[in-house]
Amino acid sequence: MNVDKIMNDLTKKNPGEVEFLQAVREVLESIVDVVEANPQFEEANIIDRIVEPDRVLIFKVPWADDKGKIYVNKGYRIQFNNAIGPYKGGLRFHPSVNLSILKFLGFEQIFKNSLTSLPMGGAKGGSDFNPKGKSNTEIMRFCQSFMMELHKMIGPEEDVPAGDIGVGGREIGYLYGMYKRLTHEHTGVLTGKGLNWGGSLVRPEATGFGNVYFAEEMLKTKGMNFKGKTVAISGFGNVAWGAALKVNQLGGKVVTISGPDGYVYDPEGISGKKIDYMLELRASNQDIVRPYSFEYGVEFHEGKRPWEVKCDIALPCATQNELDAEDAKKLIANGCICVCEGANMPSTPEAIELFLENKILFAPGKAANAGGVATSGLEMSQNSMKLNWSAEEVDTRLHEIMRNIHSSCMKYGKDSEGYVNYVKGANIAGFLKVANAMLDLGF
Ligand code: NDP
Repeated sequence: MNVDKIMNDLTKKNPGEVEFLQAVREVLESIVDVVEANPQFEEANIIDRIVEPDRVLIFKVPWADDKGKIYVNKGYRIQFNNAIGPYKGGLRFHPSVNLSILKFLGFEQIFKNSLTSLPMGGAKGGSDFNPKGKSNTEIMRFCQSFMMELHKMIGPEEDVPAGDIGVGGREIGYLYGMYKRLTHEHTGVLTGKGLNWGGSLVRPEATGFGNVYFAEEMLKTKGMNFKGKTVAISGFGNVAWGAALKVNQLGGKVVTISGPDGYVYDPEGISGKKIDYMLELRASNQDIVRPYSFEYGVEFHEGKRPWEVKCDIALPCATQNELDAEDAKKLIANGCICVCEGANMPSTPEAIELFLENKILFAPGKAANAGGVATSGLEMSQNSMKLNWSAEEVDTRLHEIMRNIHSSCMKYGKDSEGYVNYVKGANIAGFLKVANAMLDLGF
């Protein structure tokens, strides 16, 4: 398999889609040996088929602000691959959203969903709409307009969206309310729903909890755990919040959180009431990081990233390409032993290369943040059965799924010296299931 040639052809077909091409290259480079050892994949042209989305839907989303002024945003849904189950993947509302970013996320989602062992295909969607600074009613009108188009393309057996950056419980509520009105159905068509109308316990915390469970498994391979460890986290959204809670529960100390404008360093640890305070700010749509530094009298490092802080474990939980080679060098020089991605593709390829060269425990997002979509899968199961599981039951299943993903990464990623390349392990394990399903199903 000639990765450079495939990438050249793909670049010509998808000019300027930097993030998408980055995500594809990472997967292809990991699976070369497996593809070469299984000629049936090349015979069935699986690679060309898996890098092309089944469907790309782009639509207009007009909406009016509270003063009656009308705006138009772009809406997207990328239905990438449904070989192993209905399309599944989040919706992102953020001004940076474009086709390349959503295609990279949809592509990653294929392998992530496969790793969970649940029957879910890969998809992603969203809009370049910026929810920041909008009123509740503006957000509701936007979500309703977005769903006017999206509802034609989704369904509980067809495509089940969820949240992502800028789409939390409130947005899922407005989207679901509109879907219900348009289709006359009360079905499990979205996940991340409220508990009173079909949601699952533990879903809000699941990505962060799953991320920390995965890191715990990695630490175990070195005879270590979270007790007494210093942890740097970036972002403070859905994922970072759950991760911070779980790190505290396991005896670790979270010393940073961040936003696009900088990070705070709190050497006493971010826990308990401090986390509640930030949740209040989030709920009222306010900035978190700067107010936190004032409230607790700690340093705010404007325009900087948390990776310069001395820590044992780093959990990048904010956004793509937020940790580059310079950051990786600082983490390694400061003695960091484990980097476990909570966000999707937060580390640049150069940073990943440094982690692997230095034999750091490094887990890619598609394995280490799969707990979110896995728990969405559990929400779908509960909706189908018209049953609600207890928080303990959901958490036990989530924990088990993360342990199994870790084992799959070990199986395909361990080298002859015992070092586990989790990037390779996750890509091979995720790919094999989908590729074999594609063979079984014909083209
Ligand atoms: P949220 O919008 O809830 O949180 C994102 C956080 O990151 C916010 O605190 C935001 O700050 C901060 N942030 C945004 N851009 C930057 C930046 N450039 N530098 C530092 N901080 C930044 O999103 P989620 O927590 O849902 O998602 C975070 C990541 O995790 C994304 O990559 C997403 O795809 C991935 N993910 C999410 C899952 C989920 O279940 N939600 C599941 C799997 C992966 P501010 O609010 O001030 O902009």
